[in-house]
Amino acid sequence: MTPDVRDRADRPPRTRAGAGHGIPESAWKRALRLIDSADEIGLACHVTPDGDALGSMLAVAFTLRAMGKRVRASFGDRQFEVPRLLRFLPGQEMLVPPAEFPAAPELVITFDSSTFERLGLLSGNTARAAEVIVVDHHPAGAGFGTLGLVDSHAAATAMLAEQLIYRLGGRLDRDIATCLYAGLVTDTGSFRYSSTTPAVHEMAARLVATGLRTDEIARELWDRSPFGYLKVLAAALDRVRLEDDLVWTYVTRVDRAAHGLPYAEIEGIIDVVRRTDEAEVAVVLKEDDEGAWQVSTRSKGAVDVGAACAALGGGGHHNAAGYTSHDGVEDTMAALRRELGKA
Ligand code: AMP
Ligand code: MN
Ligand code: MN
Repeated sequence: MTPDVRDRADRPPRTRAGAGHGIPESAWKRALRLIDSADEIGLACHVTPDGDALGSMLAVAFTLRAMGKRVRASFGDRQFEVPRLLRFLPGQEMLVPPAEFPAAPELVITFDSSTFERLGLLSGNTARAAEVIVVDHHPAGAGFGTLGLVDSHAAATAMLAEQLIYRLGGRLDRDIATCLYAGLVTDTGSFRYSSTTPAVHEMAARLVATGLRTDEIARELWDRSPFGYLKVLAAALDRVRLEDDLVWTYVTRVDRAAHGLPYAEIEGIIDVVRRTDEAEVAVVLKEDDEGAWQVSTRSKGAVDVGAACAALGGGGHHNAAGYTSHDGVEDTMAALRRELGKA
């Protein structure tokens, strides 16, 4: 069942250049054994999924389904809704709401979730699972689960998902490649971030070779939005502040309600704010529908925003991280400034 995967152009290399070199062979072998012996497998990714979380999960779901496994894929948001940006991803018919996830699964595989808490409503089901395989690329990954397939050097969880798919004997078709590509371009900022290694481009070449439409995927992910987005962006930019090397702003749920804009639509505002030349760190506070502030932080490299956000109960990467705050805007910013000063 496990094919002999050699270093061929249509296969991810098992060398240091490939993703997952930090993962011992014994861990991959154990993962294959666990998957082999499970009839029903629960797949879970982090709440308010991004392209990497949902794309990696759906790609593996396709593969497991082709192997004849019963698969339930989900994410633990109270309001179970795929963000509009990601509705183009194939395989969504495999998604079930958290209430239909097995209560005590024999095997759960998690994707792109660095902590147990990031599984949201599915954390209980995962805690009751007999085995939990964690597929992730966060520095703080595998803090939970019974088996970690974690490589913090991988640019995206999608790179580890691709490895897993090949090792399971799966093949890349256009649907699977579309899901993986969404993860790869999301987490590398369209191949702009420092995480963009030769292995990233090699993987992209394998994916694009399946005939997927890079232009359509890019438009779905970044180049379209409802008109209301422009108005909410304008409000956010109108109150943006530059304090030394910190640039920040916030978006309230009142801003969004005024223009009928769902929470998921404001993800890209940080990408406008972070371009500020004078700033080293960019922050956007986004009020969600429950009234909590979801804090997005970005660094240009000198400051470890992942450490700052981890200290505030969240997490992430050196240059992109976040957390949830239940304080007001000013108190949230005061606490964040304190942590950024240490990071
Ligand atoms: P975002 O600003 O939402 O795009 O998030 C950037 C990165 O920060 C994500 O890829 C996650 O790794 C991490 N992150 C965001 N929110 C949280 C959170 N509440 N808890 C832990 N990590 C988070
Ligand atoms: Mn993610
Ligand atoms: Mn990721």
